[in-house]
Amino acid sequence: MSIVAKRMDRFPPSPSVVVTQRARQLRAEGRDIISLSIGEPDFPTPEHVKRAAVAAMERNQTKYTPIDGTPELKQAVCLKFRRDNGLSYTPEQITVGTGGKQVIHNAILSTVEPGDEVIIPTPYWISYSLMVMMAEGVSVHVPCRQENGFKLQPGDLDRAITPKTKWLMLNSPSNPSGATYSRDELKALGDVLLRHPHVHILTDDIYEHIRYDGREFATIAQVQPNLYERTLTMNGVSKAYAMTGWRIGFAAGPVSLIKAMGKLQSQITSGPNAIAQAASVEALTGPQEFLHERAAIFQERRDVVVDLLNQVPGLKCHKPEGAFYVFPSCAGLIGKKTPDGSVLRSDSDVALYLLEKAGVAVVLGDAYGMSPFFRVSYATSMDLLKDGCGRIKRACEVLV
Ligand code: PLP
Repeated sequence: MSIVAKRMDRFPPSPSVVVTQRARQLRAEGRDIISLSIGEPDFPTPEHVKRAAVAAMERNQTKYTPIDGTPELKQAVCLKFRRDNGLSYTPEQITVGTGGKQVIHNAILSTVEPGDEVIIPTPYWISYSLMVMMAEGVSVHVPCRQENGFKLQPGDLDRAITPKTKWLMLNSPSNPSGATYSRDELKALGDVLLRHPHVHILTDDIYEHIRYDGREFATIAQVQPNLYERTLTMNGVSKAYAMTGWRIGFAAGPVSLIKAMGKLQSQITSGPNAIAQAASVEALTGPQEFLHERAAIFQERRDVVVDLLNQVPGLKCHKPEGAFYVFPSCAGLIGKKTPDGSVLRSDSDVALYLLEKAGVAVVLGDAYGMSPFFRVSYATSMDLLKDGCGRIKRACEVLV
């Protein structure tokens, strides 16, 4: 008898595992592999934030904190929502967790009953689907076409809603597509949601500050105030403040939900890291100008990567408005023959080929529920991006 519980069988094998393992193996053999698969900014955590952490340690702020966040951090989160999003919350409407991931997981696990449906616009961040699965809910994947900028269309949302729908997951700017909803686009989705009062909205705004071309940020509770009562607005310090390793995420929403999420967290991790919470107060309340500077650097890289990838025969790359990913279609490569005679039949084959032939690691679209695509992260230096895209081009030019 296996020691492992049956519940673990519900986890499907990760679609990207073969490519990841092969990349590791090639690196171990000494091959020069350029990784364009990284999901975190390549910038360091700002100095003033690090200093706040040191000061917290020196004050011996190293004990357990309240389960769902220190009063100081909850105040800072309220300030952030007011300042950046025009949203008014009180500290009892705020929850803080160990990363945005835990916050989303708390929300799903404390609300989804077996059989409840969660609408997930596709392509999506893989964890949404797995979290729903863990809660014995049903993910309803709604394809969002490249021609529509990978954005959920109001009619498609309307058709996906059933009496069992519990949540709509929104993620803007999106991982993996970079799609960023405008105020009007959110308003149109909001109009649909107003007709379905049983549906709650979980909006994952973690890439909020990584936006381009002067695009304004919008989030649904702000755009459609009548949805405020049934929206959980989630965000965090990981991506904007280059604090992925500090593990702090937060959300604001109805008090009953916030309480349930805290109850769950109290038996899983207790309060988040005390020092990281002190650092996050500084991140949210300290200087914010560097966010624009970093977004401008990402924008420059996006422009170069989109331009280079669109010169590759067989690839079609949409220009995203935010986050640090592009999600090109590789439909034009499917059916082509590699120099060693094998045929590329899927985005998994394409990702493996790019790894073997070009020494470039990307993530296959299947990992985000949409094929044939792959994700390229441009959270790396311009030199590596140019080198990586050049290698992809050369590898694709020899396909027949
Ligand atoms: N949401 C999205 C869309 C993400 O891409 C990620 C991280 O990759 C997260 C949430 C999780 O963020 P955190 O590192 O704060 O748990």
